[in-house]
Amino acid sequence: MDKYAVIGNPIAHSKSPEIHRRFAEQCKQELSYGALLSTEQNFKQDVSEFFKDGLGLNVTLPFKLQALEIADELSELAEKAGAVNTLALENKKLVGYNTDGIGLIRDIQNNHKQTLKNKNVLLLGAGGAARGVILPLLQEGVSRLLIANRTEQKAKDLLTQFSSPVMESLGLDAVPALKSIDMIINASSAGLSGISANLPENLEKVFCHDMVYAAKDTPFISEAKQKGCKQYSDGLGMLVEQAAESFFIWRKVRPETRPVLEALRKQL
Ligand code: NDP
Repeated sequence: MDKYAVIGNPIAHSKSPEIHRRFAEQCKQELSYGALLSTEQNFKQDVSEFFKDGLGLNVTLPFKLQALEIADELSELAEKAGAVNTLALENKKLVGYNTDGIGLIRDIQNNHKQTLKNKNVLLLGAGGAARGVILPLLQEGVSRLLIANRTEQKAKDLLTQFSSPVMESLGLDAVPALKSIDMIINASSAGLSGISANLPENLEKVFCHDMVYAAKDTPFISEAKQKGCKQYSDGLGMLVEQAAESFFIWRKVRPETRPVLEALRKQL
């Protein structure tokens, strides 16, 4: 049977095996999808061991950078993101992809019916997840992309890396005073430790997306709602959409994401 897996540390709570099992069932694809626990020291060896008979791996924290280094070839999105979340064996070469950004865009556009073209977007965070979504956001034609990060220098470095005239960087202290923002995307992990995002007031017409997901409102979404936000989403849709793109890369079949997302939401 064609063999796939997700590799990370920790990995026991990963939702990827269930998502891909549901995709495979829906698309009538015969495959196995497991979960591999690895370590920084063993990562390279674990990956080459897997690809002796495996066809594809999803890579999650903390190995997305190491995966970039061991890939023989990279997609443009993976190269720009500086991170690989999907490895595929193609013509005996290990090709590295990054599907996080596409996952975010599909979730925002298809599941939440938001347009990105000509929109002023505020991106909170400048870590791996933020880097992965910048090129897809620029490709959708946003008119302004403001990147705010605790360590402002990291946001400035991204301006240099992407050299787009629509990008600007700022520190988190400048966020509350921002005006004319259409969308806020939270790619910061601050909320995981209960730290507030310090968002601007009057978010009635602003779409707010948190990459983190939870059974109830995340701290970011709670704050956005307190400040008037009516349209928002958490990161579960992005998780399912990025998985669907990996599945497509491997199997050349595009699964329907909505039933899988609904099933996962019920289990949270
Ligand atoms: P990184 O560790 O690479 O980056 C973390 C970011 O959060 C940095 O910008 C960091 O700022 C900021 N940050 C961390 N703690 C604080 C704090 N106390 N106050 C202010 N800023 C803080 O993580 P990733 O980019 O990989 O992931 C970010 C989030 O996105 C995670 O919560 C992750 O779970 C989620 N994610 C969700 C996905 C999905 O499919 N739904 C996919 C990928 C990620 P600084 O640079 O100053 O350290």
